Amino acid sequence: MNTNIKITHANLHFNADGTPVADDFDDVYFSNDDGLAETQYVFLAGNQLLKRWRAHTCSVFTVAETGFGSGMNFLALRQAFDDFLVTQSNRNACRLHFITFEKYPMTLDALEQSHQQFPSLCNYAQALRAQYPEHPIPGCHRLEFDQGRITLDLWFGDANDILPELSTANHGIVDAWFLDGFAPSKNPDMWSSTLFKHMFRLAKPYATVATFTAAGFVRRGLAEAGFEVSKISGYGNKRDMTVATKPNKTITQTGTAPCEQKVAVIGGGLSGCLTAWELSNRGYSVTLICKDSSLAQQASGNRQGALYPLLSPAEEHVSQFFLHAYRFSRMRLAQLTSLTASIAHQWCGVLHLSCNDDLIRKHKSIANFHFPESVVHSVDAAQASDLAGIELEYPGIFYPNGGWFCPGDICRFIAAELHAKGQPVKLDMNVDEIEKVGHVWALTTSAEVLEFDTVVIASGADSAKFDVTQHIPLNAVRGQVSHVPETSNTSPLKTVLCHTGYVTPAHDGEHCIGATFVRRTTHTELSEEEHQTNLQRLSDRLQSSVLANEWEHSPMAGKVGFRASVRDHMPLVGSVPDWDSLALRTTHGDMKNLPHAQGLYIISGLGARGICSAPIAANIIANYIDGTAQPVEQSILDVIDPSRFGWRRLRKGRTPFGP
Ligand code: SAM
Repeated sequence: MNTNIKITHANLHFNADGTPVADDFDDVYFSNDDGLAETQYVFLAGNQLLKRWRAHTCSVFTVAETGFGSGMNFLALRQAFDDFLVTQSNRNACRLHFITFEKYPMTLDALEQSHQQFPSLCNYAQALRAQYPEHPIPGCHRLEFDQGRITLDLWFGDANDILPELSTANHGIVDAWFLDGFAPSKNPDMWSSTLFKHMFRLAKPYATVATFTAAGFVRRGLAEAGFEVSKISGYGNKRDMTVATKPNKTITQTGTAPCEQKVAVIGGGLSGCLTAWELSNRGYSVTLICKDSSLAQQASGNRQGALYPLLSPAEEHVSQFFLHAYRFSRMRLAQLTSLTASIAHQWCGVLHLSCNDDLIRKHKSIANFHFPESVVHSVDAAQASDLAGIELEYPGIFYPNGGWFCPGDICRFIAAELHAKGQPVKLDMNVDEIEKVGHVWALTTSAEVLEFDTVVIASGADSAKFDVTQHIPLNAVRGQVSHVPETSNTSPLKTVLCHTGYVTPAHDGEHCIGATFVRRTTHTELSEEEHQTNLQRLSDRLQSSVLANEWEHSPMAGKVGFRASVRDHMPLVGSVPDWDSLALRTTHGDMKNLPHAQGLYIISGLGARGICSAPIAANIIANYIDGTAQPVEQSILDVIDPSRFGWRRLRKGRTPFGP
């Protein structure tokens, strides 16, 4: 979805009954006359949810809705799902995923006023408002509630534009549809044949549809899309409403329960740990394998990693991916830090100074693009100085919702959680080979051969060392961070300060200054020359600040890591290509249809941006594995797909890989 689309808030007023009314559509958001009861009748009972939850064999039940409005349908659904869970002995195995689309989001105030109509839902409503996006940025806002048991994908934009962009697993992703886009006569756009066609494409076999309307063109449209449609009695004094089912032509609902699937995640850095965490929370039997004697020893080993998005107005797909990633990372890190006090971090913002011609140009183009203020805004030198807490001579751009995190603390917290659930974390275990043997993946390690149904390679710069990944063009780039002591001059620094390098606010008496970029080396020791490079760059760029010469004579201390990077600077997230089958391909077709190795995934190439991109990447991998909805559009999945290099070569008429 185009990041340049501007989403405007809904124009609405509240009528004498307190019901919100959309001015542009001249229609109510929900019935004046007990809207909650109508929702329960039309959408919950109309889709026979309780009966279906009882019979449901998969761990996730997915409901999709056209028109989020006040979120009342979502809140009513949450309440019904909670009531259902009380009756379940294994409530941990059940998750609810709600996907919804909204072109004109309500403001938070309007949402709050609407929620006053439903006092019985007030706890759920409060939880929703606590996470509701402050600014209507287009695209998917994935929110999680109840420790991840409930996922809400709130897509801001026109449902007609978004639906065609959604990817689906083999047999669909949606179990039930709520069609709630104002009366068809007042908003025909929300009842278009394109929309019905994509609803059908995304629906699982046996998926149902329910809507309050019985309008003939809606029923015909659903039928033309492939649904079996019927009329049933409407709510209250409404005569009819419509329900529909996707006929099951070929497929019976089978599949292995997550707990019966053994997954190995190779890599004890941030992306590996977050992937293991996602999968373990979804009920998979996960083994986390790390070649080092403790976690986060490689690129995730920095004491303070900055969180801010990579914005590049000239490359639309870069900004698109990183805006999604940034939003998701903020949600995930806020959730993790609410679970434990052990993750060192600060939501202190990130200030990037326009301190050379290149950065002046780049920051100007970011300012001209008008990203929402909450993402980034321009500051003059006086504002920059105020934000940083030290006198600075340059203007710049500020990411107010950024900050820094200690990635190692996140990894250690996740490992403790895995341990508590009896999920193995194997340290000091080097995987030498990954091979398909029959239906399983055999991992040859220094000590033993282990077998898994699914394997995720999250081994940073080592990810392309296996036969199965050898054609993935991954580079290892050495980076050295310097650790320097906090002094009375430097302790006022209160934001992450980027120039052509960066310096962090003090943590435990030290600042981090970074980082070097050295290619074509495997040297792992600290280097005095690189330490001096870090100090010199800082004093050159921040000449007139108190930081300039503060650490001139600071002895060498720091950390070396190898970033995994890819030449197009986008991460690698998805299935590993099946090279033998790929070698036979002569045409490119759709990237997602290129041959993939079943049950083998990779998450790598995160470069220096792991704090921003690892959380969403881990989530995307987990969604591929369990066949659930993705929090980004297909076009974004394509730009991070590990097959993209082969696909681009095929498109140019070359062989998919090779010299
Ligand atoms: N389900 C909502 C609730 O629980 O409050 C009520 C939905 S209201 C009847 C219809 C919603 O559809 C409105 O919020 C409206 O802004 C939204 N809408 C209208 N046209 C749209 C479009 N083309 N794409 C996405 N949303 C749209």
